[in-house]
Amino acid sequence: MNTNKINYQLLLDREIEQLSSEGRVPTLLLHSCCAPCSSYTLEYLSKHFEITVFYYNPNIYPEEEYERRVAEQTRFISELPAEHPISLRVGEYDPREFYDAVKGLEHIPEGGERCFACYRLRLERTAKLARELGFEYFTTTLSISPYKNAPKLNEIASELGGIYSVKPLPSDFKKREGYKRSVELSKQYGLYRQDYCGCVFSQQERQKATDNG
Ligand code: SF4
Repeated sequence: MNTNKINYQLLLDREIEQLSSEGRVPTLLLHSCCAPCSSYTLEYLSKHFEITVFYYNPNIYPEEEYERRVAEQTRFISELPAEHPISLRVGEYDPREFYDAVKGLEHIPEGGERCFACYRLRLERTAKLARELGFEYFTTTLSISPYKNAPKLNEIASELGGIYSVKPLPSDFKKREGYKRSVELSKQYGLYRQDYCGCVFSQQERQKATDNG
């Protein structure tokens, strides 16, 4: 199946409609990469799910940057008024997990195979934890970014959902102006917005682009 043609927002709409008709508010383990990407996603999904945000990002470099993003994520959750409760679980920060996952792919530019391995690492840990803790759904905030490959994220999530027997929630959060809303919310809450994706390679790519003007 050509996943590039699938409208994941439409699939999410249908899932939410179904839940509303059943009058259910299920549990969702939501992987988050940073507070800005979680802002619109949480504003939107917390109307329909009881969410635990899973902050698992061993890709982030350096450690000070990681700590800064965790602090912003924690603050944002505590300040966002939400219809259903949102809690936070911070995963382990062991950058070796990331370097092992992307071994041999380090110099592939952002958006390629290195990123797909990085998506898989974070989604797999999320699906596994969702299964262990008995969540009904799992997904990630990553698809809100125009730089992330939403079909690939959904394809990986769907495969992992089958392996771990947890429902993957379809996502393409940039649709319906989700990205634009995340920029507005970031301003409103004064969130720190980093200028590179997260890993050392993306930081170097960003630096090179800046140097080349
Ligand atoms: S650019 Fe972003 S998604 Fe790609 S490998 Fe680095 S941290 Fe992961």
